[in-house]
Amino acid sequence: MAVARDGAAAPTLILDAGTGVRRVTGLLAGQPFTGAILLTHLHWDHVQGLPFFRAGDREDASVTLLLPDQRDGCDAEEVLARGMSPPHFPIRPSQLRGRWTFGAIGPGSFQAGGFSVLACEIPHKGGRTLGYRVSDGRSVAAYVTDHCPTAFGPGPDGWGEYHPAALELAAGADVVVHDAQLLAEEVAAEAAFGHAAADYAVALAAQAGARRVVLFHHRPDRTDDALDELARRFAAAPVPVTVAAEEQILDL
Ligand SMILES: [Zn+2]
Ligand SMILES: [Zn+2]
Repeated sequence: MAVARDGAAAPTLILDAGTGVRRVTGLLAGQPFTGAILLTHLHWDHVQGLPFFRAGDREDASVTLLLPDQRDGCDAEEVLARGMSPPHFPIRPSQLRGRWTFGAIGPGSFQAGGFSVLACEIPHKGGRTLGYRVSDGRSVAAYVTDHCPTAFGPGPDGWGEYHPAALELAAGADVVVHDAQLLAEEVAAEAAFGHAAADYAVALAAQAGARRVVLFHHRPDRTDDALDELARRFAAAPVPVTVAAEEQILDL
């Protein structure tokens, strides 16, 4: 997800860097990327676009990349390099062109890419994961993905707990962009993979008083028809629901 301030020509904050980050180059109209990239965690689908992000991999780019501190004594570049260095990949992160700085972060508040950010730890599987709440002082977007709320128990609906970190990230947000890999009826069989049900995302947004929820991180085998069906499922939800599609733009 790429975030731009009101009136800005280009995004200055990117949340996660899966293959979709390549598309951000097209939003920059030939200019280099100057800003921050926040990773929620280090799984392949959240980092593998990095070396193909051409607006970030050029001599005049300036990028601050922050990822969750693994609490293992390794610095951020080293952690990222475990998946991006020979023999897995020709170069390591520090060899990207331009001025890149790498940092490890934990829960808390900080500034990144010209935005105020709150990071909260959320349950996932296999590695520390952060959710982010991003504000420009006027609008708030919560970005909560790879979230496994059943890790804290079944909760009132059986889809997982509406736990304090999730509620804090989503509280009153203009939009909550949330993991929707599963459907409620898939939770019993598949929640162990570390994801949330779309039904949970919608209920969380409603409970947190958010104004809109965007369902994304669809299960890889969902077809366009299945996603249309997902939209119909929540047509009468208490919070407006958007089923994310590639290159969607939201104006907050
Ligand atoms: Zn993921
Ligand atoms: Zn993951």
